[in-house]
Amino acid sequence: MSKGTINVSVENIFPLIKKFLYSDHEIFLRELISNATDATLKLKHLANIGEANDVAYGNPKIEVKIDKENKTLHIIDEGIGMTKDEVEKYINQIAFSGAEEFIEKYKDKDGGDTGIIGHFGLGFYSSFMVADKVEIITKSFKDEPAAHWVCDGSPNFTLEDADKDVRGTEIILHISEDETEFLEEGRIRELLVKYNKFMPIPIKFGMKTETLPKPEDAKEDDPAPTKEVENIINNPNPAWTKQPVDLEEEDYKGFYRELYPMQFEEPLFHIHLNVDYPFNLTGILYFPKMTNDMNIQKDKIQLYQNQVFVTDNVEGIVPEFLTMLRGVIDSPDIPLNVSRSYLQADGAVKKISSYITRKVADKLKTLFNDNREDFEQKWNDIKVVIEYGMLTEDKFFDKAQKFALYPTVDGNYFTFEELQEKIKDNQTDKDDKLVVLYASNKDEQHSYIQDAKDKGYEVLMLDSPIISHLLQKLESSKENISFVRVDSEPVENLIKKDEEQISKLSDEEKETLKTFLTETVPSEKFTVQLEAMDSKANPFVITEPEFMRRMKEMQQTGGGGMFGMGNMPEMYNLIVNTNHELVSEILNTKTKKKKERLVNQALDLAKLSKNLLKGEDMTAFIKRSYEMIK
Ligand code: ADP
Repeated sequence: MSKGTINVSVENIFPLIKKFLYSDHEIFLRELISNATDATLKLKHLANIGEANDVAYGNPKIEVKIDKENKTLHIIDEGIGMTKDEVEKYINQIAFSGAEEFIEKYKDKDGGDTGIIGHFGLGFYSSFMVADKVEIITKSFKDEPAAHWVCDGSPNFTLEDADKDVRGTEIILHISEDETEFLEEGRIRELLVKYNKFMPIPIKFGMKTETLPKPEDAKEDDPAPTKEVENIINNPNPAWTKQPVDLEEEDYKGFYRELYPMQFEEPLFHIHLNVDYPFNLTGILYFPKMTNDMNIQKDKIQLYQNQVFVTDNVEGIVPEFLTMLRGVIDSPDIPLNVSRSYLQADGAVKKISSYITRKVADKLKTLFNDNREDFEQKWNDIKVVIEYGMLTEDKFFDKAQKFALYPTVDGNYFTFEELQEKIKDNQTDKDDKLVVLYASNKDEQHSYIQDAKDKGYEVLMLDSPIISHLLQKLESSKENISFVRVDSEPVENLIKKDEEQISKLSDEEKETLKTFLTETVPSEKFTVQLEAMDSKANPFVITEPEFMRRMKEMQQTGGGGMFGMGNMPEMYNLIVNTNHELVSEILNTKTKKKKERLVNQALDLAKLSKNLLKGEDMTAFIKRSYEMIK
């Protein structure tokens, strides 16, 4: 037997390891299973290249075992194993110095930006976060005696021969008093599922009962026969590791269910990522149905490194607008031992992020080209992601010109180019500007939409929460266009043409009318504006100027730079059509009371059509209306 002291330069590494990442103790299991996997894959490699001649690779697995009585947790592999010398070298020297370096680097971190660092493993020594004593019993594939290493959490270890004759390594953790949760079957299963669900080597955890088909001659109420089989907790060949050509639509859907067992809604479509130069990345992303009550917090994109789960916080790796998607990204090229702010500045990560953006854009374009009808049907469910992407990523904005859709209130879908072509003759104003009309709510803006349609205008239906930001961006990036909501001007003024309407009223009459209206209509809410319009257009129309409304909306949905706008009181214009008969009547009515009644009634009707008539005003309106028809 040899005894020794691990060369310690950090005061005492073990207490530090125990304290470190106190919330993340659980990662020890992922670390040990990763080591076991590496050892197995190394053996496979050697067998493949003919180095390990007399070693049959077979079907090695990894086993995790709890021994409650002895309070130990065992991780057993059938991998490459280690000779005594190798234990001395890899465990006492290399692994230790790795752990030492890690602690040295991060011991002063107060958890401020440890988001990613916390996912970076300490390797083998992380086992001391949960164990008082750790044993390694290992037999190399080389013809050498097995070795037994024991370390009790002090820098002292023993290393002697062992009589294990099966190739591979067994790690035995003597779980410490305050970590006994790691002796609970349920807890270990939870961790295996969380971190190792897709690792490449089968992982056995206990046995399970499998129901077999009944024999032909079985009676109706005979119980089905059962069999005890090994309980393999992982799928070693998850869909993302396969080639797209080898997968059917059903396989992708099946993998989605495997990833999110609690998710019952089917994904809309998937994007298979697969690149090996200039960085290595595989994965499958899914577009989920974006329902309003969607909880973005759960079922997020999962990040793996060589099939080992790392995190489901992909912020900084995937562009923000794509964090709304689901699925898996697997890349060994994402540095994890760094802070998030560093990550965002990292060149490789930037490349990965723009690759993913490009792939998503390409896929959307293909879907659009291949089956436009289907794409249109899905538009409502995917538009938030696309519009948000257009808003936040310029490259995506450019690419999206080919597939971003602008639906009309009648359910027609145009690309911007098609829309432009369709409306340019009828909706270009006198300054040569193309005016795109839109509504955000078909019911609330019904009469305005109707007026615009009567004029032969196309009205878009744009109702995403971030639409005002996107319109702002579209206006600034395209030439000579403006978006105008149908209720922001009287229909005559939505698209200003050169035709002058002649007013039936003289200037003097207008003056008298305006004075009376301004006195009667609540001025803190309405600005009265006289307009000579078509005599058939409504006499009173309430409008809300585009600019003010849009700024307010942008402020409310998190637009910077418009401080205070969100809290501005609602201000409307009351447009009075001086060519309408009723307006002449108001002007010519002699008694003040009668005049006021007409104005109030007309104002209420205008409010009603803009969904503004509520509460006390509504009650008064109903009463007045009944009196009028008595
Ligand atoms: P890392 O895995 O990052 O190299 P570790 O501290 O986890 O660091 O392990 C150190 C070394 O110990 C490994 O590189 C490997 O050579 C050896 N090792 C650890 N676990 C095993 C195992 N189960 N089988 C064979 N070798 C192992």
